[in-house]
Amino acid sequence: MGKVSFEQIEEKVRAGERLTGEEALFLFETNDLPRLGRLANLVRERINGNLAYFVHNHHINPTNVCVGGCNFCAFATMDPNDPRAWMWSVEQIEEKLSREDLTGVTEFHIVGGIHPDFNLDYYADLFRMLKRNWPHITIKALTAVEIEYVALLSKTDYATVLRELRAAGLDSMPGGGAEIFHPEVRQVICPGKADAEQWLEIHRTAHEMGIRTNCTMLYGHIEKPHHKVDHLLRLRQLQDETGGFMTFIPLVFHPEGTELARKYNIKMSTGANDLKHIAISRLVLDNIPHIKSYWVQLTPGLAQVALSFGADDFDGTVVEEHIYHAAGAKTPQALTVAELIDLIRAAGRQPVRRDTFFNILEVYAVEREAPPVPIEVREVSPQEARRWQPRRVAAGAE
Ligand code: SF4
Repeated sequence: MGKVSFEQIEEKVRAGERLTGEEALFLFETNDLPRLGRLANLVRERINGNLAYFVHNHHINPTNVCVGGCNFCAFATMDPNDPRAWMWSVEQIEEKLSREDLTGVTEFHIVGGIHPDFNLDYYADLFRMLKRNWPHITIKALTAVEIEYVALLSKTDYATVLRELRAAGLDSMPGGGAEIFHPEVRQVICPGKADAEQWLEIHRTAHEMGIRTNCTMLYGHIEKPHHKVDHLLRLRQLQDETGGFMTFIPLVFHPEGTELARKYNIKMSTGANDLKHIAISRLVLDNIPHIKSYWVQLTPGLAQVALSFGADDFDGTVVEEHIYHAAGAKTPQALTVAELIDLIRAAGRQPVRRDTFFNILEVYAVEREAPPVPIEVREVSPQEARRWQPRRVAAGAE
């Protein structure tokens, strides 16, 4: 194979051709950020035009007690008696949510520690309680790592766990727990939790059942470019197979208060590095429709810039984020819908309120003075529908 060049990559991207692992590696090794950004923006606008999505969501982190023991995590504690520990019963969550204003919320985003007592019954009860009280709110819950542990506790397979949770109200799954798939890294940063094969198998199972999910990659610690290329290509391969991923979220490692950062003297990633990861994700993951700039961990300011470096989704209102704030994130705990709209507008994009599945709920004018433009249904071309729908959902499957 000949030497890789930026010209060759640009030519392929303009022609809509898929990048190879070698080309992805070249991109990780370049520092020509403006050129990378322009190319990623071209793809971003080809797929998502000028739209920038957000969701009116509400995070629930039922516990920070976790047996996972990942050394990059400042959120969890292994000791239930730690003064920082919390474990909410289903009743406590119900009571807490009843006191909150959930007007307009369309999604519960639920992730937490791997608590040894939080079994299938706990989560099924939680989802049933949420659907009983707020039947219109989508439940996007449990990373593959949590599903793996629940299956272990129940001594059953992933499909059974997912089937029971879906019957209780599970609608979709977030993409956390992927970290870095490559064992050279995974064995160092999170040896105690689901491995790459298990993570991928759980998402494959979910997609085959028609449950759409997201995917992630944790960067900015001890990983090398070839580990990230391997990670992205494995996600792309699964997406080729199932088509079930909606969004990819590059997650930056927040070193504050973590054992991993202490041991390897890791400093916080820079803005340029974050934009580079957003851009490369957009270029390599040509079959995943959305790339998220998660404002909670990037900061709202950098997330705005990322909307011109390949990202098209701003995440959401969030409300009470514990995971990144435990690792020193200085961002707010929540943004209002009006603030999200203003941030997106100021970045020159058209704000769109979406649901979990990227159905458009409301399109706002690019200019602040104009009133919202409500629309009823999203126009999706048959070609686009074919491209983004799960392909391995058999007729009559769950
Ligand atoms: S990253 Fe997740 S699995 Fe690992 S310790 Fe933190 S909460 Fe537990």
